[in-house]
Amino acid sequence: MIKNPKLAGVLFVSLLSILLCSCGSEPSVYRTGFIAMDTYIDITVYGKNAESAAKAVKEEVMRIESLMSVTAPDSEVSKINAMAGETVTVSDDTEKVIRAALEIGEESGGALDITLRPVITEWGFTTGDYKIPDGETLDNLLEKVDYRSVKVGDNTVFLPFGEQIDLGAAAKGYAGDRAVAVLKENGVESAIISLGGNVQALGAKIGGTSWNIAVNNPFNEGNMCLLKLENASVVTSGNYERYFESEDGKRYHHIIDPADGYPADNGIVSATIAGESGLECDALSTAIFVMGAEKAEKLWREKGGFEMLLVTEDKRIILTEGLTDVFTNLSDMEVSEIKR
Ligand code: AMP
Ligand code: MG
Repeated sequence: MIKNPKLAGVLFVSLLSILLCSCGSEPSVYRTGFIAMDTYIDITVYGKNAESAAKAVKEEVMRIESLMSVTAPDSEVSKINAMAGETVTVSDDTEKVIRAALEIGEESGGALDITLRPVITEWGFTTGDYKIPDGETLDNLLEKVDYRSVKVGDNTVFLPFGEQIDLGAAAKGYAGDRAVAVLKENGVESAIISLGGNVQALGAKIGGTSWNIAVNNPFNEGNMCLLKLENASVVTSGNYERYFESEDGKRYHHIIDPADGYPADNGIVSATIAGESGLECDALSTAIFVMGAEKAEKLWREKGGFEMLLVTEDKRIILTEGLTDVFTNLSDMEVSEIKR
């Protein structure tokens, strides 16, 4: 069975929309949706300039996609991959995303590795032409995987010959940050954007109450919980977002453990990160999914600046203390809290 991530995005957004209420007075509101960055993007903007600001956001998201798509032949990422072995000139945007991903690669002990592209391609996750590679093939491909070999300068990137990058773990988060920046430039103070599993909330709802951000239940794709937040990014990486199943019913999902080239299997089925920066939350969500709960807790203590909500394969919710007061459980899963 093949899951359709775009459809999942549409369903998620329609569920989310039920939870978004504009209170009392009648603000001007503009809502639009479109497919970009391989997912469904839903934008709701309140207040003056709502429509023109939402249109500017759409243009900006398309611009980020055109720079960072791994499949579009003219993107900067494709140029870096095609010219591996040479130094390539890139935009500030691409430089920023690569720098952030390399930093979180380091902090996560290599759990996030943007050079995994050859392995991701072998599994067929980019094309949908899925297959289960054997261990030897993966070991050979992993010799071409090492985020530490990527060199970033002022608007330049060098990738050794034979290596390939994929910014799929972080680019949507950055697009969310850029969307918020564009909204602010247009004078918008209240908006909510969903980019697939990434939610970017600007300000509060009209009337001043916080947004209710729904997080998917990884076991049934209904809503697992709500997070009441303002000015925040909430990003989820889950094993249900993109996967295929073998004939014997085993699930192979799209988040790969660079340690062995197989889908990460460290006891986590979804990792949600909340923080200020979409880019950082996105990179962290993927890294933490790979790391598993124990290492993730250590990273949370050492790094700071973000909160996390993990769901384990044995159906437990683990959340960090900064989320306790904003969390409403809609599931029957047991919840435990990690304190500083
Ligand atoms: P996300 O949905 O943000 O967790 O990102 C998952 C996407 O990032 C996948 O579809 C791959 O393109 C890519 N990816 C998978 N595993 C990793 C990894 N360990 N490090 C970096 N990128 C990855
Ligand atoms: Mg991510």
